Amino acid sequence: MRLLWMPLLLLVFEAGTARAWCRSLSIASGSASCRQRCLRLDDFSPEEQEARGIVELGWERPCLEYAIEARGARDLPPETVERIVGAAFARWMEADCDGRTPNITVRPSAAPSECNVPEYVPGGGNANTLMFVDDWTDRGHASAAFALTTTWFSTRTGEIYDADMELNQESWTWAECPEDGCDDGRVDLGNTVTHEAGHFLGLAHTPDNPAATMWACAEEGETLKRDLTDDDIAGICALYPPGSSDGACEFEPRGGFDPACRADRSTGCGCSTPGHGDDAASLLLGLLAFGWWRRRFKTS
Ligand SMILES: [Zn+2]
Repeated sequence: MRLLWMPLLLLVFEAGTARAWCRSLSIASGSASCRQRCLRLDDFSPEEQEARGIVELGWERPCLEYAIEARGARDLPPETVERIVGAAFARWMEADCDGRTPNITVRPSAAPSECNVPEYVPGGGNANTLMFVDDWTDRGHASAAFALTTTWFSTRTGEIYDADMELNQESWTWAECPEDGCDDGRVDLGNTVTHEAGHFLGLAHTPDNPAATMWACAEEGETLKRDLTDDDIAGICALYPPGSSDGACEFEPRGGFDPACRADRSTGCGCSTPGHGDDAASLLLGLLAFGWWRRRFKTS
């Protein structure tokens, strides 16, 4: 009898944890609450997936780099920002997938980005930029949001081509809070960037675990989400299963590293069109943005 019970219990447990985290799809759930609905690929029929271009997102290359924008943060020195951001990505890279680590390596670029707007240039050089933004509301972002990660991807395959992270320093003051948090209204950079790094890597908001890094809301001054929960770890291990690398590593962004904004490289004719050239995949670009909010909505 014991043999019967044990497998049954294990099955229930595994099914429960496997459904908690949420993978980014090419369409967003769009709900404005902390308890966000997770849209999953199998919520849609194969015909609907085909017709609407619904795919799961993720990087296909195992090695990535991000570039912190040269102006840095108003509230923290560059070396502190570099250390906090590096630690945030490292938490995902070092997740424990049954004794091994996810097959994804993210490192800082050798040179900073010089572009303070999110952008992806099909057929050109790129940078996965992390930027602190002064003109947050002018960009049309909600003032209460802490941060926003924008991801460009192929709507045919779901391959992520570029990801850029905007941090709101118009509404908020950034800090490296003590372990138990800040209580002066400042926002912990590590707490926020660890969450945004999850989006950068292809995770969406987890629907039912307020303690998880990928929960959609946070308090200002919170540090809880610096550390991944089992839910977050299950997600990153599923997206990038350990041992799937063939050892080849190309860190440079798609099209090569280019720190400048497209506007800075234009020929001045104003006639360049996105997707020119031979990059056919550029015609299939999608764009997905995730905001991370201060807890201002009631949970249901
Ligand atoms: Zn988020």
